[in-house]
Amino acid sequence: MRLRHIPGSEQQIAESPYVIGNPEEKKAHWADVFGNENPVHIEVGMGKGKFLMELAGMHPDINYVGIERYSTVLLKAIRKQEALKLPNLFFLREDAGTLADIFGPGEVAKIYLNFSDPWPKDRHAKRRLTSPRFMAVYDRILKPEGIVEFKTDNQELFAYSLQSVPEAGWNVDWHTFDLHHSEYGEGNVMTEYEAKFSAQGKPICKLTASRKAPVSKI
Ligand code: SAM
Repeated sequence: MRLRHIPGSEQQIAESPYVIGNPEEKKAHWADVFGNENPVHIEVGMGKGKFLMELAGMHPDINYVGIERYSTVLLKAIRKQEALKLPNLFFLREDAGTLADIFGPGEVAKIYLNFSDPWPKDRHAKRRLTSPRFMAVYDRILKPEGIVEFKTDNQELFAYSLQSVPEAGWNVDWHTFDLHHSEYGEGNVMTEYEAKFSAQGKPICKLTASRKAPVSKI
């Protein structure tokens, strides 16, 4: 994604009521942020936030947190949320690697990874959000019965993930190479990238993953 610096973006993010600053201070206290005990679902690499905004409108009894590391992209999500004012949606300007400092053990019920950057070079495999390195981060914050849902148009990244996820100690509960023409497509909410790629005729791959065994420390 080509990013243009937007002057003043840092200050606008710092001042937004929809972005949680110093999120490490909220660790194990996300119920206080939302003012209720509803389950917390997060999207890592949410981009402009279309997917989460649609879900947050459909499910007022679920709390959503969108994580995006680039300010310029996050600002677009903030602008949309300023119009929608969804009470069950907040944003973080963070890298996925910091998530275990921000959410307590078992504080997250579901993690969405949508159209994550493919990092095609082998030497960059550790940066893929389905790599064992990141699955270990998700392991620390997800409830024992929590699930990870991953969608992509990228066949290579999907093939990699079908191997990396079990290697990291997770089950792939189910997967499809063509979500929109499969039994799993019902009720699917499209992300911004998904809408773009499927309009180009690209099939969308999806898997869901859960732990092989409950984690005793949670
Ligand atoms: N999920 C959105 C969708 O499906 O339309 C956006 C997909 S876009 C290809 C990937 C997004 O993930 C980008 O906005 C990128 O900045 C963000 N991203 C990539 N790696 C990340 C990381 N390690 N931590 C946080 N955000 C990340």
